[in-house]
Amino acid sequence: MTQFSLKLDEDQLQIQKWVHDFAEDVVRPAAHEWDEREEFPWPIVQEAAQIGLYSVDFLMNAMADETGLTLPVAVEELFWGDAGIGMAIMGSGLAAAGIAGNGTPEQVIEWVPQCYGTPGDVKLGAFCVSEPDAGSDVSSLRTRAVYDDATDEWVLNGTKAWITNGGIADVHVVVAAVDPELKGRGQASFVVPPGTKGLSQGQKYLKHGIRASHTAEVVLDDVRVPGSCLLGGREKLEAKLARARERGHSGEKQPAMSTFEATRPTVGAQALGIARAAYEYSLEYAKERKAFGRAIIMNQAIAFKLANMITEIDASRLLIWRAAWLARNGGYVNAEGSMSKYKASEVAVRVTEDAIQILGGYGYTREYPVERWHRDAKIHTIFEGTSEIQQLVIARAISGLRIE
Ligand SMILES: Cc1cc2nc3c(=O)[nH]c(=O)nc-3n(C[C@H](O)[C@H](O)[C@H](O)COP(=O)(O)OP(=O)(O)OC[C@H]3O[C@@H](n4cnc5c(N)ncnc54)[C@H](O)[C@@H]3O)c2cc1C
Repeated sequence: MTQFSLKLDEDQLQIQKWVHDFAEDVVRPAAHEWDEREEFPWPIVQEAAQIGLYSVDFLMNAMADETGLTLPVAVEELFWGDAGIGMAIMGSGLAAAGIAGNGTPEQVIEWVPQCYGTPGDVKLGAFCVSEPDAGSDVSSLRTRAVYDDATDEWVLNGTKAWITNGGIADVHVVVAAVDPELKGRGQASFVVPPGTKGLSQGQKYLKHGIRASHTAEVVLDDVRVPGSCLLGGREKLEAKLARARERGHSGEKQPAMSTFEATRPTVGAQALGIARAAYEYSLEYAKERKAFGRAIIMNQAIAFKLANMITEIDASRLLIWRAAWLARNGGYVNAEGSMSKYKASEVAVRVTEDAIQILGGYGYTREYPVERWHRDAKIHTIFEGTSEIQQLVIARAISGLRIE
């Protein structure tokens, strides 16, 4: 087991600076434009690919770090630059995590690199779980996967909602019900390879925040994928289904849930980056802005707000780092991944609102970035498990009871 330490090592410090420099020089200057355009920021993602930040190698190296801290440290810096562009760069990671979490080593080697492509030919991945009638309740998916013995193919039908990179991705990872009666335990994940017939983009959503990130419906109409696209393989699925039918409860988690649990500290780090950006900006502003003949920070009402902001931000980082370390060193005990995501996302919403307050009228306009940061922060209390769902997970973990 690796020692938990708050002191980042040389490699981590270098990565932190490298991502920060990219966020400061490339991402932040582009943030306003892509938020207004509400389009996927291809040139910025291509630039991230050129320097190796948008790449399977970066993701794998960061994930291989035994302290678990490299990824949250890098993600905090990236989202400090901008959350919409940050999501455009990180979105494929969810598909990669879905493949890595459920696939065989051969499937990981085949499909994860295809979620990223190369610096000269950037590709995207999408992780498709949510549906119009199944967001928090992922056990009720209606998308069906039926095996066709004659052709050794799986046939997928259904509609996925709010999918990051949905329809513009090259690789779509789709979670579907194989045996709906078994609810979450009757589900499996499938890779839908690039160019597969029957997969199309439905509506593109116009959003409150992270507007540079593409979010759309994904329609699956008789989508046929080879048997080899079932993540984990047929034998493993059959054994899982048999156990679930026999015992009524296999003890195994549904594929979507295990992917989300693994990525929660990273989502917390996204929110943390936004919160820190807003705190730093409003601290500087409060020192400059004069009212009643003195800098507004000289009023306790403003200074204490800033004191609370940084205290909450640092508390969030400690929870994120603990969760990230635990995830790599023995696993969560009391849903620490959920705690970190829950805390950081709620803090980001509050801190960015406080930042608007500190900037007053300027803060409410699009001339200043704090209103964007507030809009961007809000999604973190909703996706990858709402705040209420995180509380549910924590409550069940601490009580051992099936709290509803
Ligand atoms: C920008 C964006 C990007 C997204 N990207 C993806 C993606 O890439 N892939 C993907 O699969 N999904 C994605 N999602 C979907 C997202 O994960 C869901 O929206 C989220 O899980 C909530 O589901 P829902 O919208 O159906 O809300 P609901 O589940 O309908 O919840 C509505 C409200 O009820 C509360 N609630 C529900 N059940 C309970 C309960 N048992 N106890 C207490 N409160 C409860 C919720 O907390 C929430 O406040 C994305 C969503 C957005 C907006």
